[in-house]
Amino acid sequence: CGHDNHAAMLMGAAEVLANMREQIPGTVKFIFQPAEEGPPIEEDGGANMMIKEGALENPKPDCVFGIHVGPYPNGSIVYATPNAMAASVLIQIEIFGKQVHGSTPWMGADPMPVAAEIITALGQIYRQINTVDPITISIGKVIDQGRFNIIGDKITLLGTVRCVHQSTMEEVNLKIDRITTHVAQAHGLTAKATFKQQVCALTNKPEWVDKFLPSLERVVGHDKIYRSEPALGYDDVSEFIKIAGGMYLFLGVQDITFGDSKPGEEVDFTKMKPTSEKGIAFNHNPKFYANDENLKIGVKIHANVVMDFLSNN
Ligand SMILES: [Zn+2]
Ligand SMILES: [Zn+2]
Repeated sequence: CGHDNHAAMLMGAAEVLANMREQIPGTVKFIFQPAEEGPPIEEDGGANMMIKEGALENPKPDCVFGIHVGPYPNGSIVYATPNAMAASVLIQIEIFGKQVHGSTPWMGADPMPVAAEIITALGQIYRQINTVDPITISIGKVIDQGRFNIIGDKITLLGTVRCVHQSTMEEVNLKIDRITTHVAQAHGLTAKATFKQQVCALTNKPEWVDKFLPSLERVVGHDKIYRSEPALGYDDVSEFIKIAGGMYLFLGVQDITFGDSKPGEEVDFTKMKPTSEKGIAFNHNPKFYANDENLKIGVKIHANVVMDFLSNN
């Protein structure tokens, strides 16, 4: 995902700022975050754990600022406002049956068709939510205990829900719960949906964007700052920004051109073109890459944002 880059840029900024400590009109806190995109399913981690452990206390920050790298032109900045990234939840659906042998299915209670029907039925939720309100529901993993001719007692589905608007999340979760319970019941089985690792939506409020834009323009230039529509990706930096205010943006790190998209306007990502054989590779793709020269820009952005914010407040 590029988290080595994020750690390197923040460490670089810490080094720069530590060397000019006397000139800094305030206190700077560097948040190096573990498991930003979710810890292992049974563990705690990420922003919420850091908040619980006091990361935003003593001193309480007046704002939080963060950078994530992405598949955009080297040294460009891309941000969305006010809705920037989605609210997220990890769904775990457990379907409880009774072991079945393929030769005598009536002797057990087969959880497999229930799993299949639940996955299919979740697709109907798209038609029960206003279409201008973007959501995705994805089941990414099916855990069974079976063999080609034997189905075990239980099947577990793991997936994720993303909602650009925080308010939709509760509604979607209730529908998932309803489908899970009743599809299982229709076949005489039971099932249970559990919602884990809930992360709030990320909002870049316009007043914060206005505050940081002059610093960003000075570092990368007015012509390298673009806007985007909100993403259904999530990042739990949203939990910090919800409490303290602030902004989160993407720094381009790849050999790409935006074509005729205009700076300051929303980018049409379908028109992105690679400018080298390294191509366009999204985060979480095995071909993802980040050109090192952009790390310096990230360090400069962090340092300039800090100095401007503290000098003007
Ligand atoms: Zn990621
Ligand atoms: Zn990430």
